[in-house]
Amino acid sequence: MTKTFKVAVLPGDGIGPEVVEEAINVLGVIEELEDVKFSFEYGRLGGCAIDEDGTPLPEQTVEICKAADAVLLGAVGGPKWDNNPGHLRPETGLLGIRKALGLYANLRPAFVLDCMAADSSLKEEVVKGVDLMVIRELTGGLYFGEKKRYEDEQGEVASDEMIYHEYEVERIVRRAFEVARLRNKELVSVDKANVLESSRLWRKVVDRLIPEYPDVECRHQLVDSCAMELIRNPKQFDTMVTENMFGDILSDEASMLTGSIGMLPSASLADGNFGLYEPVHGSAPDIAGKGIANPSATILSAGMLMKYSLGLERAANNLEKAVHNVINSGVRTGDITKNREEAVGTKAMSGAIINELRKVYAEQA
Ligand code: NAD
Repeated sequence: MTKTFKVAVLPGDGIGPEVVEEAINVLGVIEELEDVKFSFEYGRLGGCAIDEDGTPLPEQTVEICKAADAVLLGAVGGPKWDNNPGHLRPETGLLGIRKALGLYANLRPAFVLDCMAADSSLKEEVVKGVDLMVIRELTGGLYFGEKKRYEDEQGEVASDEMIYHEYEVERIVRRAFEVARLRNKELVSVDKANVLESSRLWRKVVDRLIPEYPDVECRHQLVDSCAMELIRNPKQFDTMVTENMFGDILSDEASMLTGSIGMLPSASLADGNFGLYEPVHGSAPDIAGKGIANPSATILSAGMLMKYSLGLERAANNLEKAVHNVINSGVRTGDITKNREEAVGTKAMSGAIINELRKVYAEQA
């Protein structure tokens, strides 16, 4: 029997609706190529929700997401709402939906296609072949610990508490082992165990879990050395897992190896198979409505959605292959080509990906 999956769709603001539309078109083609159906339910988040509903995160949006198997998000924000007070900022909706859905594991892949290696700010031979995944803990650590501001005899003092519970470490590390299993079965756990107590707990939990995943090769690395190695020799990494702040910094560092933000997808996972999937880029108000945004990051986010939430691994891998083939063949949007005259628009890019996807399936038949 054909399986039906419910996908909540939050297009958001700026280029969000443009790139999400293309990802939905791609999922429509997957319905033809696999024995699967998607039922899409749309919700508002961010600036568009502020305008329509008076809040960046309407209750109805949370309900739509909770009733779905997974969520596909475009991007939120724009200059129109930049001077709003905190509770009426689009980003508040983003933080709110992550919290409401219990998303604690952020997956950020970074890959460099051969034909784009020359676009990196690092040497071509250093980045060519990079294909890694940074897994960041999203709900604990320094960003959520107690914050204090006070005065002592030497002046003003500020403190942020870095706190982790064993269960929080265990659930993200287990997730990381599972993701590593779907990749090259190599996991690097990043911490600062030579200095931080929270890192020593982190390392203890990782060591306890290692015997449960004998097929995955796991090692520890200190965050400062990891930051250096990411620049010196990024190809040594496959899957990395780390706490919230280290992950925030390392995932941005890793994404910059690749040369374009318009290519990078991400996933935020909760317990079970549920997850929210979105491009790494923002709402790009400077190009919104022009039909030139690169839809690849959102299309690849839909690929991650199929892989991590719906168990459609073949469809996800074929889609990834199709995107890579299209970029390698020279079809490029303006953000990933130096030759602006040859740049294609959003629709032409997704059209090329869809044609290639059909070809990839046909070759397997
Ligand atoms: P941005 O990622 O939106 O844009 C940075 C630059 O990259 C711009 O020049 C833009 O044109 C270009 N770009 C981004 N995505 C592209 C794509 N798919 N194709 C082609 N070019 C692309 O970051 P920003 O300018 O710092 O932020 C703009 C707005 O987006 C702000 O309101 C910010 O708060 C918001 N934002 C939202 C998210 C999110 O929704 N997760 C993330 C980052 C920024």
